[in-house]
Amino acid sequence: MNMKELPVRGRFAPTPSGLMHIGNARTALLSWLQIRSQNGQFVLRMEDIDKPRSRPELGAQALADLRWLGLDWDEGPDTGGPYSPYVQSERQRLYDEALCKLEQAGKLYPCYCSRAELAAIASAPHGLQSEGPSYPGTCRALSRAEQQERRRHKTPSLRFAAADEPIAYYDLAAGAQTFPAGAGGDFIVKRADGIISYQLAVVVDDAAMGITDVLRGYDLLDSTPRQLMLYEALGLQAPRFAHIPLLVGEDGRRLAKRHGSIALSALRDHGIPPEKIVGFLAAISGLLERPEPVRPSELLSNFALSRIPRQPVVVTDELMRSLVE
Ligand code: GLU
Repeated sequence: MNMKELPVRGRFAPTPSGLMHIGNARTALLSWLQIRSQNGQFVLRMEDIDKPRSRPELGAQALADLRWLGLDWDEGPDTGGPYSPYVQSERQRLYDEALCKLEQAGKLYPCYCSRAELAAIASAPHGLQSEGPSYPGTCRALSRAEQQERRRHKTPSLRFAAADEPIAYYDLAAGAQTFPAGAGGDFIVKRADGIISYQLAVVVDDAAMGITDVLRGYDLLDSTPRQLMLYEALGLQAPRFAHIPLLVGEDGRRLAKRHGSIALSALRDHGIPPEKIVGFLAAISGLLERPEPVRPSELLSNFALSRIPRQPVVVTDELMRSLVE
């Protein structure tokens, strides 16, 4: 089926490793607006695949924070739905099936490189900042005998053998994108400790859940060519992508805890009403001329991806004060 005929479905997929803050909340809000303004269905998925980094109580808190902000979803960990479960750690079977499929297609190989070896590569100059350096393919050429020998001493990770060709796609927010051949290198789909990588899990889940539109932060733009390769290798339909510029502090770095009390729970404890936060987020995202208290649903008629600034948004201390005072 052509994607144009599919019902519009989007999602917000938080990782429960930290408190929901205004940066994540903005992504959630814009994603919700993009989908709801097209009368689409919105899904909440908990991306806790990296168990050691995830904390269930933060997942529950994230849902509560988003609800408090005025967002809703048709399917999710708390509401259930036809694609249950909506928690990655409970979807291992689907990831194993995808690994099997990739293995059978000859797209995977075991990698025995140590962290130290990879760190040495990391110190070399590279272009793909958010995903680390490209893997040079050291283990790709190992013979079966060499692989067996190494497996006796070490559990390998599994890497996807990336095609040596450029990848291009049209991003609904960032415009036409072209990545040179080998841009992402051969990336890990299963870590040596058995944990499935974000790249594989997100592709399997978005496809299985019928997601047609992915709106997320610009920091994940570099992941997109890898994910497009996985969609193709698995014979799955890729969604449309929209990568929105990040919120940054005055130091030019991505907005984070170091920039002060930006957690939604801290703002709530401070007595800031959710409508004020939504208005603030809408104003810095080009959807309102100046901040004024609004509910998310009041922004629906004003929403257009084209209104979102194409440059990172600097959240100055002064701007932040306007929210908390
Ligand atoms: N779970 C990811 C994060 O919290 C988002 C993944 C995505 O939107 O593709 O950064």
